[in-house]
Amino acid sequence: MTRNMDKVVLITGASSGIGEATVRELASTGARLFIGARRGDRLKALAEELGETVAWRELDVTDGADFDAFVMAAEAHFGRVDVLVNNAGVMPLSPLAALKRDEWKRMIDVNIYGVLNGIAAVLPRFVAQKSGHVVNVASVAAHVVLPTAAVYCGTKHAVRAITEGLRQEHDEIRSTLISPGVVATELGHDITDPDVAKALQGWRQKALTPDAIARAVRYALEQPDGVDINEVIVRPTAAD
Ligand code: NDP
Repeated sequence: MTRNMDKVVLITGASSGIGEATVRELASTGARLFIGARRGDRLKALAEELGETVAWRELDVTDGADFDAFVMAAEAHFGRVDVLVNNAGVMPLSPLAALKRDEWKRMIDVNIYGVLNGIAAVLPRFVAQKSGHVVNVASVAAHVVLPTAAVYCGTKHAVRAITEGLRQEHDEIRSTLISPGVVATELGHDITDPDVAKALQGWRQKALTPDAIARAVRYALEQPDGVDINEVIVRPTAAD
């Protein structure tokens, strides 16, 4: 495994869970990392811990102008942009009959528009430089539909379709979908339905730790330019 990855990597949702673990994993490769999320205090602490190869800026992925400014700030700081890891996501699960329209909208805004805003912010640069890599964190929920997760699964199916569309439309840009199974993180902390919150605790009985997903991201980034890892699915061993 390389210890001198000469890339500038932007990572969203870096304030916890899979995003934070990916920052830690890639920091050990020598890559320069520009990290974003809404909780700036957490980003600041992580950047201070890891040193000057990590810089941060608060980011709300649902705001296209904010995402553009985030990418411009990364370019101003490190001189270029090579990789975007669209990792930010939310999962307030509930049955459709609960009619939680605000939660449906939040999932669509963060999980779909957040990814599209990221693609819009980097795509003109990647086209101009004839290279670049977009890594989108989806889920096994991009492949199946799970109880109480119709909208969440819909957003992750959309991320899978968008990632494949990007691959088909751009020969010189690599596009990777990372699809985790259950991972022990803060995801779902905002579930308002008590039965679903309890069910999530059950699903988490057999969960990966976030570093397992971070290693999959690293694997995709370490490939030579001519090799595009299109999708990696990572589940706990012997999971359903
Ligand atoms: P966490 O809740 O730990 O992390 C989610 C991250 O997304 C946080 O850093 C949060 O930061 C960020 N985020 C949420 N909303 C926004 C926003 N509007 N703008 C910017 N950042 C935002 O969960 P995970 O680490 O588990 O989730 C990471 C990804 O992995 C998600 O896309 C999730 O769907 C996916 N996934 C997770 C699985 C699991 O079992 N944990 C399984 C399959 C996929 P902040 O609140 O500071 O903005």
